[in-house]
Amino acid sequence: MLCPLCNGFGSEPDTCNACGGKVTECGKSSDWAGPYEPYGPIAEDWQNELSSGAAADFCCHVVYCDNCRRVSEVLVAEWP
Ligand SMILES: [Zn+2]
Ligand SMILES: [Zn+2]
Repeated sequence: MLCPLCNGFGSEPDTCNACGGKVTECGKSSDWAGPYEPYGPIAEDWQNELSSGAAADFCCHVVYCDNCRRVSEVLVAEWP
C-alpha cells in the first residue's frame, strides 16, 4: 500500500472542516505522538477503526488550517 502524501505524489490534502479553507499537510499523525496532542474524541474513534481494521487502507495525516488555526486529522486513502 502506498500513501500518496507520504510518497510525495502531490495529492491534495483535505479542506478544513470548519471553514472550507485550504489546509497544510503536517505529516503523519503517528509522528505527532507526544506531549502535544491536538486530537479530541474524533481521533479516538479513528484509532478504534484502525485497530478493528476498518480503516486499514488509509494513512492518517495531520493537517493545519491557516485560516482558522485548527489542527485536525484526515484519513488519506492509500493506493494498492
Ligand atoms: Zn501517509
Ligand atoms: Zn479552517
